[in-house]
Amino acid sequence: MTGHIVVLGGGYAGLGAAKRAARRLRGAGARVTLVNAADRFVERVRLHQLAAGQRLPDLPLRGLLDGAGVELAVATVTGIDLAARVVRLDAAPYELGYDVLVYALGSGADLGAVQGLAEHAYTVATEREAARLRSRLTAARSVAVVGGGLTGIEAAAEFKAARPGLEVRLVSGGPIGAGLSPRARRHLRRAFDRLDVTVREHAPVAEVGPGGLLLRDGGEVPADTVVWAAGFRVPELAAACGLATDEHGRMLVDATLRSLSHPEVLGAGDAAAVRGSRMSCQTGLPLGLQAGDAAAALLTGRAPRPARIRYVWQNISLGRHDGVTQFTRADDSPSGPVLTGRPSALFKEVITRGTVWRMRHPHLSP
Ligand SMILES: Cc1cc2nc3c(=O)[nH]c(=O)nc-3n(C[C@H](O)[C@H](O)[C@H](O)COP(=O)(O)OP(=O)(O)OC[C@H]3O[C@@H](n4cnc5c(N)ncnc54)[C@H](O)[C@@H]3O)c2cc1C
Repeated sequence: MTGHIVVLGGGYAGLGAAKRAARRLRGAGARVTLVNAADRFVERVRLHQLAAGQRLPDLPLRGLLDGAGVELAVATVTGIDLAARVVRLDAAPYELGYDVLVYALGSGADLGAVQGLAEHAYTVATEREAARLRSRLTAARSVAVVGGGLTGIEAAAEFKAARPGLEVRLVSGGPIGAGLSPRARRHLRRAFDRLDVTVREHAPVAEVGPGGLLLRDGGEVPADTVVWAAGFRVPELAAACGLATDEHGRMLVDATLRSLSHPEVLGAGDAAAVRGSRMSCQTGLPLGLQAGDAAAALLTGRAPRPARIRYVWQNISLGRHDGVTQFTRADDSPSGPVLTGRPSALFKEVITRGTVWRMRHPHLSP
């Protein structure tokens, strides 16, 4: 059998998809190519640690792909010709024809949300931006982290734990940790009190400037460094090339992860709008594996199975020695049990390492 599966994006979703598809097609004569902008796998879930000055494990993609039967193209995807079934790249091989395409380009920071963001704010959304913030933080005296979701909480706690002398304010348009149970939120409040992080809830930001934040109610939050962690935005490529997308530019997929407009294209991870899922590596890795299964099925003329996503916990680090693990129902709603303190921090570290282990051995995942 011949045939070519091309996977765009070597993150949690794309790497899992490529390795799983190659595994399913082993010995069948098909090709699987993974395209990624860099030659390294970026553990995005650790980027707040990078910004706080920690060293992250070096994970070359070639090492993670060793023996998997996946070709790697290190290049940026500049376009997709859906009619000709060709992907365009900014580096060799410049063009790749495909029979089945997996779109898993992830997400980045949403720097269009309010005025002044692009000029004045830093983020932890990509490795490059987190590294830029790391340099800035060495000279910073006061930081305003905007975003009461998991990324903002983790970033504010990590920066303060790493540099206790830094003045850190966490500012959120709504409540902090909105999806957590009252018990988990109580722990967050205690942790921020202990760390001496000032928390401002229900304070939507109107504008970002060189001296900090202007709030919608007219108030100001002074800070020499602003970190925007209030939501991610997906690449515009899916919409630009003509794939059906939602209002946020996420690729619309059916229950088997196939594009609603182009069924030979599958979507997974942050860049795909999968019903009942939230942007997370907890979603990206399992859906990536299932997209790999679906891609192999399509190439061999079989019908892909409906994808399933079941959540188990939300794992939040609060520096290296504290955390909150909120156990959840399969639909991601909080179910009661909460782990806190060092056991939670240790648990999160084990899960984060375990995720990379699963990327090395995706055939051992269901
Ligand atoms: C600081 C931080 C902490 C987080 N903590 C957690 C957590 O604790 N738990 C959790 O579940 N989730 C967490 N997340 C979210 C999680 O990291 C993302 O949801 C996850 O990375 C999505 O995986 P993905 O494979 O869809 O995309 P990504 O991991 O973003 O991978 C996309 C890949 O595509 C590549 N790419 C993009 N555009 C192009 C292009 N045009 N050409 C070629 N390559 C391209 C990128 O370089 C990247 O390698 C966190 C995120 C951040 C930023």
